[in-house]
Amino acid sequence: MLTALLGGTFDPIHYGHIRPAKALAKEVGLTQICLLPNHIPPHKPQPDATTAERLAMLELAIVDLPLFSIDTRELNVEAARPSYTIDTLAQWRKQNGSQKGLAFIMGQDSLLSLPSWKQWQNLLDYCHLLICQRPHYSEKITDPTLAKWIAKHQTTNVADLHASPAGYIYFAHTPLEDISATQIRQNINAPKNVENLLPPPVWRYIHQHGLYNAKKI
Ligand code: ATP
Repeated sequence: MLTALLGGTFDPIHYGHIRPAKALAKEVGLTQICLLPNHIPPHKPQPDATTAERLAMLELAIVDLPLFSIDTRELNVEAARPSYTIDTLAQWRKQNGSQKGLAFIMGQDSLLSLPSWKQWQNLLDYCHLLICQRPHYSEKITDPTLAKWIAKHQTTNVADLHASPAGYIYFAHTPLEDISATQIRQNINAPKNVENLLPPPVWRYIHQHGLYNAKKI
């Protein structure tokens, strides 16, 4: 069994997270995807939802979706410390041993930003990377170090992902969803309707709690 983690800020969770992840599960044969909300360090501007609110929205989003669960480990780190993916993956490995399959899911935008991540070239020691395409983010990799690293580890064969616990990069053929949390926060603040961009219970929560200035709508 291949466990998959989908890391993100989820401020808020939206269909751009859920739909590609569901399609990816079918394409790759994933039986479980753990949503991994990250910790926002205090120095980041925060007009946005609190950790508890982001978590509540995740819980509402997956109520009827047994494919998904939530892993809160990054929320438990000290308030002043950001959580790094490499540390989270290392911790997961320590807990689950070296033989279990682990995949980390990310969008193309995250892949392009990878060279700024802590010890990014070591990520594949712990997991496979599953990449979902995303509108507005080029499939072309211009960073030569990143491009070389991808070429070395890429597979187009889903069976590889199940045959070894970590080490491969796989580009999925998931649907393009032109949705971002930034756009949703801006639309709510505008105010513009966002109800087709995220699950209804999540929108109701946003509205009830006045998140992102939602009371104006
Ligand atoms: P923001 O707009 O606030 O930066 P976001 O919409 O990118 O947020 P995150 O929670 O930061 O959402 O994203 C978590 C993960 O999901 C990232 O790996 C990101 O690339 C991916 N992702 C988010 N939206 C999409 C989308 N529309 N299509 C594919 N991947 C996505």
